[in-house]
Amino acid sequence: MMHRREFISDATWLAAGVALGAAGAGRVLAEEKKPMPRDGVAAGIPMPLQVVIDDVGWWSGEDGSERQEPYRTGIDRRHVPADYRAIVELGRALGIRPQAATVLCEWDTENLLRALPESTWMGAEWDNSRWRGPWLEEAADVIRQNEAHYELTIHGLGHEHWTNGRYTRAEWADENGRMRPREQVEAHLDAFEAILAQHHLGGLPRSFVPTAFRHGFGRTEGRAVSMAELLAQRGVTYVNTPFGSMANADDVQRGVFGLDSGVMTVDRGDDLLDWDVIGQVPSGALTGPTCGLHWPNLLHPDPERNSEIVAGWVALLAPYDDRTDTMLAPDSLSFQHQLAHHVCTSTTVSGNSIELDFRETDSLPTPTGRGTLTLKVRGASALDFTSDAVGIATTASRRAGDEVLYTLRLERRPGLERARVRFAPTPA
Ligand SMILES: [Zn+2]
Repeated sequence: MMHRREFISDATWLAAGVALGAAGAGRVLAEEKKPMPRDGVAAGIPMPLQVVIDDVGWWSGEDGSERQEPYRTGIDRRHVPADYRAIVELGRALGIRPQAATVLCEWDTENLLRALPESTWMGAEWDNSRWRGPWLEEAADVIRQNEAHYELTIHGLGHEHWTNGRYTRAEWADENGRMRPREQVEAHLDAFEAILAQHHLGGLPRSFVPTAFRHGFGRTEGRAVSMAELLAQRGVTYVNTPFGSMANADDVQRGVFGLDSGVMTVDRGDDLLDWDVIGQVPSGALTGPTCGLHWPNLLHPDPERNSEIVAGWVALLAPYDDRTDTMLAPDSLSFQHQLAHHVCTSTTVSGNSIELDFRETDSLPTPTGRGTLTLKVRGASALDFTSDAVGIATTASRRAGDEVLYTLRLERRPGLERARVRFAPTPA
């Protein structure tokens, strides 16, 4: 397990630029390669980190891929409501809202997926009676009661795509990332919403993770619209998927994220653990803005011991919030705004002020980045901050060795494309 102290001593501007630059981090990190001037001040817009957990929603844990059933989560036990509580526990401990990318076929109490034979291994004979039981309401209650620390994200119905009892990858796009026919995609999104309604879990979510990471950026062969455009029409603003397996990845405009019909599409990069690893305390370092995992990675073979694994993730992730170059996003919407600022908004320290330039952020074809942002400042001594161009909503500070680290939550004022934050030594 990593110790918090090691992270702090490693988090120099230089180390930060090297460790995260390769992940396509914005030019702010390049500026940070400059060491802080003696007795000076350094400032940057930290890269937000968002936790995304795939394949939540299965009740069976069985990897059924050998017999033309879904991979599911590939573990030797069924899932239980405690597995949903593990997600909430992670969110509460870190003050974040993890995304649960959810598969819903085993929540279908009305067998409505009979009408979509390509969506499950049983086709038109779909029968989910095996998974009707009190655990559904118990888990739904966990999700509904803990909205602040649980974000339901669209993943899929059956995860793959079946033809005559045999599957291909995957539900929303084929092996090459080419979108499935539009009518099918629309029908699957309708069904996702309908199954959520069976359990009073709200309308269609605003975020999406493609199953098996098969996805195309923009339009794919023979399709008049892109997946993102269909999602945007239903209020989705954000897609998270690894760019390594995404069709048209070369068209991404901003390195770690691209805009596809106004939908922010973010690179997931590589996960720290394999998809079916369970009961292992995680280790390693994140290299980009997404902390991607699969549901078993957060769990223990004995559900009563899930907390031991959750604690491991808390220990791994918490230090990123203390670093000057990273932060934990409180939720996926803040994540989108902060990522836009991290990549597009420039900061310059000059004299007794920090200059922020929002022009590039405001040129994005989406409202992302018009609201609030987080700025981190390192000072050789205690500082006070003022601005007449942005609201300074909250300020947190923490001493690290001889330095003081500040976290400033800034609220933009409409129409101002630049802002100045002044600093002055705190009067003794
Ligand atoms: Zn999946």
